[in-house]
Amino acid sequence: MRRISIFGATGSIGQNTLDLIGRDREAYQIVALTGGQNVAQLAADAKRFNAELAVTADPARLADLRSALAGTGIEAAAGPSALLDAASRPADWVMSCIVGSAGLAPGLRALEQGASLALANKESMVCAGPLMLATARAHDATILPVDSEHSAVFQALIGEDIATVERVIITASGGAFRDWPLADLAKATPEQAAQHPNWDMGQRITIDSASMFNKALELIETKEFFQIDPSRIEAVVHPESMIHALVGFTDGALMAHVGPPDMRHAIGFALHYPDRKSLPVERLDLVALGQFTFRSADETRWPALRLARGVMATGGLSGAVFNAAKERALDGFIDKRIGFQQIASVVEEVLSRVSAQQGHIDADITLDNVMNADHLARVRADEIMTELEG
Ligand code: NDP
Ligand code: MG
Repeated sequence: MRRISIFGATGSIGQNTLDLIGRDREAYQIVALTGGQNVAQLAADAKRFNAELAVTADPARLADLRSALAGTGIEAAAGPSALLDAASRPADWVMSCIVGSAGLAPGLRALEQGASLALANKESMVCAGPLMLATARAHDATILPVDSEHSAVFQALIGEDIATVERVIITASGGAFRDWPLADLAKATPEQAAQHPNWDMGQRITIDSASMFNKALELIETKEFFQIDPSRIEAVVHPESMIHALVGFTDGALMAHVGPPDMRHAIGFALHYPDRKSLPVERLDLVALGQFTFRSADETRWPALRLARGVMATGGLSGAVFNAAKERALDGFIDKRIGFQQIASVVEEVLSRVSAQQGHIDADITLDNVMNADHLARVRADEIMTELEG
């Protein structure tokens, strides 16, 4: 039996992962499941899958978790250090699907155990790509991409020589506002931004899709994961979300990965890697689909993409600053402190203020330095949002 842990089990990716595992229950032993606020879901899944341990990130929810698990023999724990302890338990395969930079430390700890880390938490690569890769190398661990675009690129690269890659194109649906006139974006609400045209995902990544910050993170993730020069990485809007990424080779060939917008493909690919097994995803009828369309990813409409180019050029801790600033600005938008278009202006201003402070961007990429940069960026983002409100 393969020993499996899921960090972020109560979320959209976590639930899709459990859906796949539940179809072949006998093949897996669940070590740890973790969640945040949704303790009822966490306890129900821990019982259904007979997990050894359930952890909520929020210590205030521990009493609820304990009482929900009373008499089951399943251990309950809470808080960031309990998440790290859970990640220290030996497991063969670990799903990293906490949302935000909170997923970084548990993922690193799982790599230190030599686990295969299925990485949905793109923030880990954006904040600390070199540290993630070095930790995996040092502990003979594997990182498998779960983000659909990166899973697509990974699959297109199997058996290929990376030196023959001319370009990587990742697609974007364009999100909730792709057809809105630019002039209307200032009035866009969080409720409207949380409606994705094609994918069913967590609230935060869905809003990030509307602002294109999700694609911005993914450009950086592509650079870090595959060690590809940023000049070779492109984003293109593909409203149907059927082609997830394309890899162009030096002979002019473009290999496209095509499939329905269902995360169980990428999760299942990572779960069974290096094998391919049957997965419960829709089989596409190309004639019924009729056509695939593409539009340019306009950096005026979506300044997040321009900011990502700057982050890729600067490197160092700028990814950590960019991500944390975005996380805080997104909180500000959800709480209606700032407007939709101000998300990007807050992030840009945080990058400029933090860069102006000597040593904050070019320090070594260690976990401590990343978390310090993350903290500093959040403080700056709060300052800037207060200035905007005043
Ligand atoms: P969700 O918001 O649906 O789930 C997030 C998970 O993280 C939940 O289990 C949540 O707990 C937990 N969580 C939230 N905050 C914290 C914290 N501070 N500490 C520990 N745990 C926390 O997100 P998604 O499943 O949509 O996304 C998860 C990750 O996967 C993100 O990095 C996202 O970018 C990435 N991803 C998601 C895709 C998708 O289709 N959803 C596609 C590609 C990548 P609770 O809900 O109990 O509070
Ligand atoms: Mg993606």
